[in-house]
Amino acid sequence: MHMMVNKKLAEDTITRLRSMDIIDNNYLIQHDQNYVYIPVIEKIEGHNYVDMNGIQKEIKNEKISFSYDIIGDIAIIKGKSEEEAKILSKYLIERKNIKTIYLDNGITGEFRTRTLKLLYGESKTTTLYRENSINLLVDVQKAYFSPRLSTERLRISNEVKEHEYIIDMFCGIGPFSVLIAHKTDSSIVSMDKNCDAIGILGENMKINRLKGNITPVCGDSAELVKNYRNVDRIIMNLPHGAYNFLDIAFKALKKGGVINYYEICDYETLENRMIFFRNSGFEILYKRIVHGFSRNMNMYSIEIKKL
Ligand code: SAM
Repeated sequence: MHMMVNKKLAEDTITRLRSMDIIDNNYLIQHDQNYVYIPVIEKIEGHNYVDMNGIQKEIKNEKISFSYDIIGDIAIIKGKSEEEAKILSKYLIERKNIKTIYLDNGITGEFRTRTLKLLYGESKTTTLYRENSINLLVDVQKAYFSPRLSTERLRISNEVKEHEYIIDMFCGIGPFSVLIAHKTDSSIVSMDKNCDAIGILGENMKINRLKGNITPVCGDSAELVKNYRNVDRIIMNLPHGAYNFLDIAFKALKKGGVINYYEICDYETLENRMIFFRNSGFEILYKRIVHGFSRNMNMYSIEIKKL
C-alpha cells in the first residue's frame, strides 16, 4: 500500500512518516510527474492510497539496478532520495568489504567534490583503490575521483611512448599520471588547483613503483601552463570547463604533440568543437563516448594532434 502525495509535499510527508515509523522499508518510494508514492505499513486518515502490487514487486524478490560506485571499501549511491538510498544500501551491505556507504548529492564547485551523506558504516572518507595495476589512495570527500574513467586511463597509458613529456592539467589525485609513470619512463607535470588533491597525489607517488617521474604542482593551470613549451602530450580532464583552457594548451604543445581532451556536451557542441580543432590546425585522431550524462549529453573523449 502506497500513500499518494503531491510532489511538493513529499519531502515533509516522508519526514513526518519516518518520525512515526510507518514507512514500509520493503518497498521503494516511487514517483511520476505529479505524485510521490510512499510505501506505508498503516493508513492515516485524510490521505489517498494506491495499491501498487503488480506494478512493483517486493524489493527482496526484485532485480534492482541503480547507479553506484564502489571505491575500495566505500560505496557511493547516486541519483536517489535518502529514503530510497537507505533501502538500496541493503544490497550493497551484503557485498563483502563494504565498510561505508554514502549517498552522493552531486559533484559541485571548482574542485568537483562530492556532497556526501553517510548512510551506513564507518564515517571515513579515505580508502585504497586498485585500478589497472596501481594502488590509489582516494579521499572521496576532499578531492575528485571517479572509477568510471579507468578504461580511458588504461587506453592512454598504453599509447604513451617512453620519454614522453606530459602535462596532466587537471590531475586530481593523479590516476592518469601515476598509471603512466608506473608504465613508462615519462616525465609528467601534474597540476591541480585543489591542494588536497595534490597532497594525495604525493601519497600515491609513494605507494606505487614508478618508472617515470611526476612533478606535482598545486595551482591554476590557466597560469601554470603558460610556463611550458614543447610538451608531447597534454591531458585535459575537466569535462565541464576544459574548453576554456584550450588556447594555452595549444601554445604549450609541440608540433606533432597530442591532447587528450574530455568534455560533457551535446552533439551539436561536439560538432562545433571538431570544427574548432580543425580550424586551429589539429587533426582528430580519436573520438568516442565514454559514458552518457543526461538525455542529450555525453562525456566524450577526443584525441587531437597538432599539425
Ligand atoms: N584527472 C583527474 C581524474 O581523472 O580523477 C581529476 C579530474 S576532475 C574532473 C577535474 C580536476 O580539475 C579537479 O580535481 C579540480 O580540482 C581541478 N581543477 C579545476 N579547475 C582547475 C584549474 N583552473 N586549474 C587546475 N586544476 C583545476
